[in-house]
Amino acid sequence: MSDCIFCKIVNKEIPAQIIYEDESVLAFNDIQPQAPIHVLVIPKKHISDMASVHGEDFLLITTLFKTMQKIAQEKGIEDEGYRIVNNCRDNGGQTVGHLHFHLIGGREMRWPPG
Ligand code: AMP
Ligand code: ZN
Repeated sequence: MSDCIFCKIVNKEIPAQIIYEDESVLAFNDIQPQAPIHVLVIPKKHISDMASVHGEDFLLITTLFKTMQKIAQEKGIEDEGYRIVNNCRDNGGQTVGHLHFHLIGGREMRWPPG
């Protein structure tokens, strides 16, 4: 999508600190990190949100979670643990309309979320 900020990152039209990339997935540092480690993991294909995932696109979700497990290992936060967040649509607090998961770690998290 031409006006989607994360598609622009996928297409290298705007810069990002890329952590991992393959043919279907991109991972990059969040511009406003909420913890020492805060990585966004996205499908390269434009899917607007988790509620819009259908059919074969669910395979991409598996790929995204595998990617996050790998990044957590590489970042050295696997043993101590981490949090994965997906904000879906308005009530979920989603602000960027391209499906993404937040991988957050490096400090102890609290619950419940705000
Ligand atoms: P959400 O509120 O779940 O939609 O998350 C969107 C996230 O994208 C926020 O944590 C923002 O800080 C982050 N973000 C927005 N623009 C950029 C950007 N250009 N590069 C990296 N992260 C971004
Ligand atoms: Zn997009």
